[in-house]
Amino acid sequence: MSLASLAPYPRVFMSAIFTCSSASAYYIAQYGIYIDAEMIVNVFATDTNEMMDLLSYKFIVYIAMLGIAPSIFLFYTCIDFQNTLGGTIKKVLLPMIGLVLAVAMIFPSMQTFASVMRNNKEIRYLVVPGNFVYGSLRVLGDAIANGSNNGAVTTLGDDVALGPAWGVASSKKPKPVLMVLVVGETARAQNFSLSGYHRDTNKNLKDKDIIYYSDVDSCGTSTAVSLPCIFSNLSRQKFSREDAANSENLLDVLKKLPLDVAWVDNNSGCKGVCANIDFSHVVSGGQFCDGDNCYDEALLGALDRPQLTDKVIVLHQSGSHGPAYYKRSPEGSKEYLPECRTNQLQDCTREEIVNAYDNSIAYTDLFVSKLIERLQVLSKDFDTAMIYVSDHGESLGESGMYLHGAPYFMAPEEQTKVPMLMWLGDAYTSRFGIDRDCLKNNASSNYSHDNVFSTVLGMLDIETKEKNRSLDIVGPCMAGNKAMKLSEAGYKHD
Ligand SMILES: [Zn+2]
Repeated sequence: MSLASLAPYPRVFMSAIFTCSSASAYYIAQYGIYIDAEMIVNVFATDTNEMMDLLSYKFIVYIAMLGIAPSIFLFYTCIDFQNTLGGTIKKVLLPMIGLVLAVAMIFPSMQTFASVMRNNKEIRYLVVPGNFVYGSLRVLGDAIANGSNNGAVTTLGDDVALGPAWGVASSKKPKPVLMVLVVGETARAQNFSLSGYHRDTNKNLKDKDIIYYSDVDSCGTSTAVSLPCIFSNLSRQKFSREDAANSENLLDVLKKLPLDVAWVDNNSGCKGVCANIDFSHVVSGGQFCDGDNCYDEALLGALDRPQLTDKVIVLHQSGSHGPAYYKRSPEGSKEYLPECRTNQLQDCTREEIVNAYDNSIAYTDLFVSKLIERLQVLSKDFDTAMIYVSDHGESLGESGMYLHGAPYFMAPEEQTKVPMLMWLGDAYTSRFGIDRDCLKNNASSNYSHDNVFSTVLGMLDIETKEKNRSLDIVGPCMAGNKAMKLSEAGYKHD
């Protein structure tokens, strides 16, 4: 407070700190979340629907008692801020003396203290208000560094070209290609029965001829990180949101080809990934909507009577977005009951929370299956394929953690292991020379979001120096690697 009183409007500044602290304390206490720079970004990347899902009477009580009440007290208290040189020195000295005293008190048990801090780095993300002040300063610093970049964008894949499977060389014109990329939301691998979950949450998909990847790591633990990372050519180790924002991505590369590229959203937007391509949001009020809340089947409308052109469509689900999991599956489809019917997870039993979550996973299973069926119907006019991958997982109370967004180094597997699957139409596999059995044999290897960029280029037989062959999952299963040899010899398609 002593340092805060150096600010131009100390009372306003302190009230802001009280209010932000009360909100932080609420989320830490209720959901066991950790507040770092990424979490601050998530706060700003949210939309009103998402925000309403997180609000509750308890939240208002926290804000009123810990934020507004002390603020009122502050405004009605007569304070001599001592805006003199002596006063300023005092305000700086006071916290320094405090720090020295604190260190002196810790000193006798320094060894224990140091090792606890070293082994539990995440504790600092629980200290209010240091956590959000530090996080905000980092976000601000990044934004300034970004601003000084003058909006210069790194281009990617200017050499991009369609490979031989596009058959321009042959006389018979092939059918247009329709590839759908489903970006799932908050689905964790362990609750997919395809991953061995004890509940049959993949009733529909298990009968489809899909390739399921059982060991996939997410790039981040939040949408704001994972989404740009999935479409970026940067690996998780090298990824930063700033670099990604200043660079073209997979969709921009595809856009350089004679392909229609579109993004259809049933979530809170594409986090900047789709800035240069067609974007639309599902329209509320339709058949699959309950007021403003639309179930993911509404996304299938994107495949109604598509024009006969080569296209890549991204469908961005609301999936299992919490904490109001019960809103993610329509009434009448719910198999696991009773389910938690509030965003106040602490008011529900663990069983009710898991039930609501599993209902959303089962609904995603239904949605993806219906999508595959739709693509099967469309395969009389198109060569069709689909990839599904979730953006990150979710904690459902394991070790006292809920939701997601934990710093990656300490994030549990519930938040980082995501389901991924692929479906390829018969005509698609023969045209692109893909061996499904080969894909299935490799499906239990460890993959990650890092693989998506090069795999999508690989399975579409698209050549560019940005494609990293070692990350292309499909490449090694394409016809005798003949096409690859050709391209390595400098094949260029016009
Ligand atoms: Zn997400």
